[in-house]
Amino acid sequence: MTTMLTASADVPHFKMRGFAGAHSLERCEDPGCQVTAHGQASCGRLACPACGFSGSNLSAPDGFDGDQLARCTCGAAWIPESTRERVAA
Ligand SMILES: [Zn+2]
Ligand SMILES: [Zn+2]
Repeated sequence: MTTMLTASADVPHFKMRGFAGAHSLERCEDPGCQVTAHGQASCGRLACPACGFSGSNLSAPDGFDGDQLARCTCGAAWIPESTRERVAA
């Protein structure tokens, strides 16, 4: 099931390394880095606007069948800031 986001509060950015079962989490090396509701972290990375994680938990939009949503293993899905213009075109 996919949950569309309605919250707008920024969340702290965490990085996830590895894959499920063998991953580790660490705070972004950029002090105070936060993720916007558009899934864009202050450091420039794509990150989940719901849980703040970036890395192997994310699935980038592949563009097939009009799919423009990035997805996170937490169940969140959103349109990344970087592809928004392409979507509108
Ligand atoms: Zn960051
Ligand atoms: Zn997430």
